[in-house]
Amino acid sequence: MINQEKVKQAVRLLLEGIGEDINREGLVETPDRIARMYEEIYGGYEEHTETYLAKTFHVKNNEMVVEKDITFYSTCEHHLLPFYGKAHIAYIPDGKVVGLSKLARTVEVFAKRLQLQEQLTGQIADALMEYLQPKGVMVMIEAEHMCMTMRGIKKPGSQTVTIVKRGEFLENPILEDTFFRMLRL
Ligand code: ZN
Repeated sequence: MINQEKVKQAVRLLLEGIGEDINREGLVETPDRIARMYEEIYGGYEEHTETYLAKTFHVKNNEMVVEKDITFYSTCEHHLLPFYGKAHIAYIPDGKVVGLSKLARTVEVFAKRLQLQEQLTGQIADALMEYLQPKGVMVMIEAEHMCMTMRGIKKPGSQTVTIVKRGEFLENPILEDTFFRMLRL
């Protein structure tokens, strides 16, 4: 649960900390604005993937399901700066699938928290393993980190790529190749 008062106090301190005048016109509303915005961009703390993944459908054919180019926005927990990009998810069902939109919802639940890209990738894969008990899951995330591009080494457009594999994807490289081929289509 977002504590609006604490966030507002913290933003005022932060503004003073960087030498700003918190009473100037442009900043008077800023603590309030940020506290309200946090309700949305950190709304993932209030959500559970169960909401989206608990309802499954039975299938006879266990063909690989791929949902690619799921756009997401998250926040790096080391710098409190955004990182954003695309998530690609593949899984091999074991008789159970979920609605495709639920995969994007699952990404959102974890993205709307303070995150590390590696951790985000793993959490998505583990949530699918937990609720669908598929034969395998593979998640790939490509993202640009503002903490890399607007400061420090300043390499605009550079992408960080993370991959997590579970189940059959760990044992069978052909599955991984199939996933990569489908991403290029
Ligand atoms: Zn960072």
